[in-house]
Formats: sequence, C-alpha cells, structure tokens
Amino acid sequence: MRFDIITIFPEMFGSVFSKGVIKKALDKGLIEVHVHNLRDFTFDKHKQIDDRPFGGGQGMVLKSEPIFVAVEKFKRNEKTPVYLLSPQGRKFDFRLAEELAQHPQVILICGRYEGVDERVIQYLVTGEISIGDYILTGGEPAAIVVVDGISRFIPQVVGNVESVKNDSFYEGLLEFPQYTRPRNFRGMEVPEVLFSGDHSKIESWRRKKSLEKTWLQRADLLESRKLSAEEKKILEQIPTEKRGKKDESD
Ligand code: SAM
Repeated sequence: MRFDIITIFPEMFGSVFSKGVIKKALDKGLIEVHVHNLRDFTFDKHKQIDDRPFGGGQGMVLKSEPIFVAVEKFKRNEKTPVYLLSPQGRKFDFRLAEELAQHPQVILICGRYEGVDERVIQYLVTGEISIGDYILTGGEPAAIVVVDGISRFIPQVVGNVESVKNDSFYEGLLEFPQYTRPRNFRGMEVPEVLFSGDHSKIESWRRKKSLEKTWLQRADLLESRKLSAEEKKILEQIPTEKRGKKDESD
C-alpha cells in the first residue's frame, strides 16, 4: 500500500511516522509513505502555489495547476482514490479507513489558506475527507490521521488481527475497559472477574462493559444496531445511578 501526500509543507511529516506500529509497517515494506512538495510542480520562477481569490475576499487559494500536475504524475491507475483533506468532506471513520485500505495506492492532497481552487474538487479528486467539524490551519494533520487510520486495516500492520476487531467501532460498539499491572493501584482495584481464569465469564463481562460504555458515551452508535435479546437485557441492567448520569448529560 502506497500513500502519496501532496503538501506545501513536507517538513511537517518529518518524524510523525518514525515510531511504533507505523514505523514497523514502513520498515517491513507493508506501507510506503511518499511526501511531495507542491512547489516542485510549478513552472514559474517564484514557484507560486497560491493566488488571490477571484471576486475578492480574504486570504489566498491554492492554485489548481500544480495540484493537477502532481496528481497526474503520481496516480498509478484510473482507480487510485485521490482525496482532498477538507472540513467539507465525508467524515473519516473506520468504514472509510477499511474501504481505502483495499487499494494499492491512495493520494492525499493537503489544503492550506482559504482552501484549494474548486476545479480540483470538481474535476480531479475522488472525494473530500474531513476529520471532524472544526477548521485546521492545513490538511497535514488530517493526512497523518488518515494514513494512520487506514494503515491499521492493512494485513499484518497490526500484529494481532483480533485486536483490530476488538477496537472501538469495528463491531459498532466501543471497546471494553482494559487494565494492566498492578492489580491494586492506590487502592483502585482491577475487577475481580479478570483474574477468574474463566474465559467465557471474562468474555461476557467484556461484552457487557462494551455495551454499557457505548450506551453511556455514544448512544448514537446503538441506534443503527440490531440489538440481540441478550444485549437488550444487558442494557436494562445498567445501574440506575449510571442511567441518571447519562440523562443529566443529554
Ligand atoms: N476556508 C475553508 C472552509 O471554510 O472550508 C477552510 C480552509 S482551512 C483553513 C485550510 C485547509 O485545512 C483546508 O483546505 C483543508 O485541507 C484543511 N482542513 C481544515 N480543517 C479540516 C478538517 N476538519 N478535516 C480535514 N482537513 C481540514
């Protein structure tokens, strides 16, 4: 899987992929990340990548030509997804991450200033990706999020496939709580069941906690889920004091 990132600030990617799971994936050749300087695709003396907006107004807009030229240079085939990072795009979530992980190449364009010339959106890209309803100063942090989020779905990047499937969202639920040593930290105890050695008991405790957490913190995720009879029963058993807390925050 190859990522091509087009940016006016390639230096921003300096060390972000140099640690942890992503670094290992790069070392093993499971993913490649190529960062390209948009200025290298200009043809004028000043390497101008932006200009004032037609019609007047604040700020600068990234010009279409260098972006078109860069994408045309790196796009390996017609089906390669080309995405502009943009607050106006489809919200990045695990479904889109998993979908994009099926492609051998993804091209990401980082906007800056007031954004990019609309013709890039209309005629060049497959779509726009937003990482949330807020405005960043540039697409670079969003591109980092997207590369990281997609990479987890590439086979062998995360050693244990089960851990990707247990992660929050994958099954439409938030992940269950995790604990590690020490068993007692400043009087705060780890739930007894985790030491029972009874795997089915642990499994059902985790399922219960996962449902409970989802209901308390992200009830919207449950709306699109067909709850089994067992899950409905678990939800009915959520202690009333916790129910009260949720109702207050609604
Ligand atoms: N004027 C634009 C608008 O209102 O839609 C916002 C431009 S923003 C200051 C500059 C660039 O940051 C965008 O072109 C985009 O590449 C990136 N960006 C900002 N917020 C983003 C978000 N939530 N998700 C992804 N990219 C974002």
